[in-house]
Amino acid sequence: MFSREAYRPTRREFLSMAALVPAPLPTPLIVPVHLVLDRQAKLRSEQLDRFWSRIWPQAVRDLGRCGIHLQTSMRTADVLRPPGREPILTGLEPNAINLVITNKLPTQWDSGRALSGVTTLYRGYHVCMAALDRAHCHELPFVSVNTCLHELLHVLLLDVFEDRPKGLLGQAREFRIDTYATLLWLFHEGAAIRNAAQIYVDRMRAPVQKPKFAPGYAVTCSRDSM
Ligand SMILES: [Zn+2]
Repeated sequence: MFSREAYRPTRREFLSMAALVPAPLPTPLIVPVHLVLDRQAKLRSEQLDRFWSRIWPQAVRDLGRCGIHLQTSMRTADVLRPPGREPILTGLEPNAINLVITNKLPTQWDSGRALSGVTTLYRGYHVCMAALDRAHCHELPFVSVNTCLHELLHVLLLDVFEDRPKGLLGQAREFRIDTYATLLWLFHEGAAIRNAAQIYVDRMRAPVQKPKFAPGYAVTCSRDSM
């Protein structure tokens, strides 16, 4: 005979069953990224193929592992390089990370170091730039990581709001970025990145900051030149 009384687990049984239920995944954090293809650059088809098939998907995949979803838009625009002056960028979007895809970094931001990327606050816009002549996928842990991931982390970890320190402090900041990128790449560990990115997104939605025109205000990436 079956009892008509509904089965009710004991408290101990309930707790043991609850322990078997996997923790819910955190809600993906949506980060808008506006891709700007520099039509002034002489980008070769093999460079673009390598970027779209390997470099960019690797960065998207890694950030996805810590719950960050890149919501992308794209357009072509111009990187104008007047001699002796800061570059002029068109086609940028507010309230998004602008990732400009070009061949070489502007001289004013690169200073002859042949860097693969740079991140800066440009006239109030958050700008990362990837130079496809030098950009690369993950190569060496803690030393040479995916160019796009490295530059996006300069934004998501809030470096973009501060001047790059000179000397050893500046190098320490590069090492910090490459360390976070390496932990994400090899160990899929990115809780700290996600927490910082949440702060970034909240700050991005805040009222627009005053434009900053200070020359040389670029978060350069000396480690990328290795
Ligand atoms: Zn850097």
